[in-house]
Amino acid sequence: MAPAPPSAARFRSVTAAVERGYARYARQADGWLTRYRERGGQVYCGAGCFACCDMPIRVSLAEALVTAAALDGEAAARVEAHARQVLHNARTAPDEATYVERHRREVGFCPLLDRETGGCSQYAARPTRCRDTFSALPARYCAAGTWETLTRREKADYAREVARTPGTDGELHYVAPLEHLSEPIWAAAARAMRQEWGLEVWGDFWTLTTLARREDFMERVARGDARGAWQVARRAGLAHEVVLEIG
Ligand code: SF4
Ligand code: SF4
Repeated sequence: MAPAPPSAARFRSVTAAVERGYARYARQADGWLTRYRERGGQVYCGAGCFACCDMPIRVSLAEALVTAAALDGEAAARVEAHARQVLHNARTAPDEATYVERHRREVGFCPLLDRETGGCSQYAARPTRCRDTFSALPARYCAAGTWETLTRREKADYAREVARTPGTDGELHYVAPLEHLSEPIWAAAARAMRQEWGLEVWGDFWTLTTLARREDFMERVARGDARGAWQVARRAGLAHEVVLEIG
């Protein structure tokens, strides 16, 4: 059973900055989506749609603290097991493209996904990337492996469809303004970590969520001890430059 997380109150100033950002983002994204739909735009995301939940996710430790505090021991253990698979992939993938491809194909779906309902079991505590990913084309285009199965003609159709769909960046089918709207959350997290700890910690979602529950890691971070925090992560078998950045 994974250990209980350090007291949430201890890191309140950091997590509160992120939670305020989440609330502001939800209001702004709702407003944007309402206007988009009024103009005829369509977003395909909805309850039970989860083809994107096998993508690698980068977070700040501030966001990971929010998720870590919401997990019970069993969920935390599943997250840690997933983090160890992510670490194995980071250590063995020869390049970034392979890392992403293997993450989707071999590491697989997020352990916080409820496979029966297709819903997120930690919806209220999910990180920024899970909040700001919206698709302007059907979910089959989000699923791993779809692109590889398309014919040349289907790829050309996709490119034309994306180019004429308002809200995309013209190259991919995700809704670009809804990603840009989340930038203040990243900035608020960076500011709060820097102010509170004198350093920032960024990296893989499942790795940081696991480390955020470790008293020894959080104690080093809270002291601004980047080297000590890295050593704790290394001894725990959770340190690799692809999944953990401290500084
Ligand atoms: S981004 Fe794609 S897979 Fe994810 S919820 Fe939206 S439509 Fe579904
Ligand atoms: S945290 Fe929730 S929304 Fe995000 S990848 Fe995991 S299951 Fe999907």
